[in-house]
Amino acid sequence: MAEKSFVAAEECGAFDAPSGTIESFANSSVMLGSLPVSRALPVRGRRLVGPWCFLDRFGPLTFAEEKPMDVAPHPHIGLQTVTWLLEGEIRHDDSLGCAAVARPNGVNVMTAGRGIAHTEQTPPRNSHRLDGVQLWVALPDHVRQDAPAFHAIDEVPLAEQSTGLIRVFAGTFAGVTSPAPHFSSIVGVDLQVHAKGCLEVAFDPRCEHAVLVLQGDATLERHPLSGQHLHYLGTGRSSVAFHSHSGCRLLLIGGEPFPEKILMWWNFVGRTPEEIAAAREDWQDHRRFGDVQAYRGARLDAPALIRFAQPNPIS
Ligand code: MN
Repeated sequence: MAEKSFVAAEECGAFDAPSGTIESFANSSVMLGSLPVSRALPVRGRRLVGPWCFLDRFGPLTFAEEKPMDVAPHPHIGLQTVTWLLEGEIRHDDSLGCAAVARPNGVNVMTAGRGIAHTEQTPPRNSHRLDGVQLWVALPDHVRQDAPAFHAIDEVPLAEQSTGLIRVFAGTFAGVTSPAPHFSSIVGVDLQVHAKGCLEVAFDPRCEHAVLVLQGDATLERHPLSGQHLHYLGTGRSSVAFHSHSGCRLLLIGGEPFPEKILMWWNFVGRTPEEIAAAREDWQDHRRFGDVQAYRGARLDAPALIRFAQPNPIS
C-alpha cells in the first residue's frame, strides 16, 4: 500500500485552552520575497482561532522606488484570503480576471474554493507606505469545493464609541456586520483605542478570540500586550476591556472553535494528503487554477513533496 503521509502537511486543530486565560505566542520572522513579515499564525504549525488559520503582519515601512510586495502567480485551495491595511496599497489580480487595489478601511476577500491563482503587488502609483495584515480563513467542508470568487469592499462598517473605533471587516461585532462573505462563525475586527482610553467590547462566549497589537500600547486585565506575540483569550468571555496609554490599534480575530481538522501545506488547506498532492500536481501541470493574465512575469513553482518538508506559505 502506498505510504499515506507522503505530504508533510501540518494538521491543525483548535487551541483548546481553558476559559478566561491569556496565552501569548511569539510571532516568527519570515521573508515574503524581499518583504520581512511577522507570522502570528499558525503557531507551532497547528493552531486555529475560530476559522482563522494564518496571519502575517507586514510593515509599517516606508519605501522609495522599489516594490516591497511582489508575489508572483500562485494557487490556493480550501481557504479565503483576507487583506486588511492600515496604510498603503496592494493590488490583487487573479485567474478569474478580478483586479482590485486594497486600501485602508476596506477589505479584500478571495474565496479559493476548489482552486484559484492570484498575485499581490505594490501598485506603481502608491503612497510609499505599507502596513497591514493578511489572514487566511479555513473553509468548512460543505463549501470548500465550491467555485472561487473575489470580493473587494471599499469601506467596512464602523462602530464609534467615546473611547475608540471598531472596524468590522469579518462577521458581526459591536452591533455591526461586515458585508464580506464568510461561511462559518467568524470575528475579524480592528479596534482603535484612543489615548488614555478604555474600550470595552462584548464577546460571544461561545467564540474564542486572539489579539495582535498593530500599533501603540495596550493592556488587557493588567496584562500588557506585547507587539511581538499573538495573545490568545480562549472562549467563555462575555466582555473584554482594552486600555491604552498612548492610543493603539488592535487586530481581534475569533469565532466558534472550528469543528474540523485541517491540513495546511504551502498555500493549500485541505483534509487529506492525497487532495493536497493532487492540487500541487494540477498547479505544476497548468490544470485547474487558470492563469493570472494581468501579471507580467513567471509564476511560482510549488515546492517538492518531500516528506517532513514544511514549505512556508507565501500568502
Ligand atoms: Mn496568496
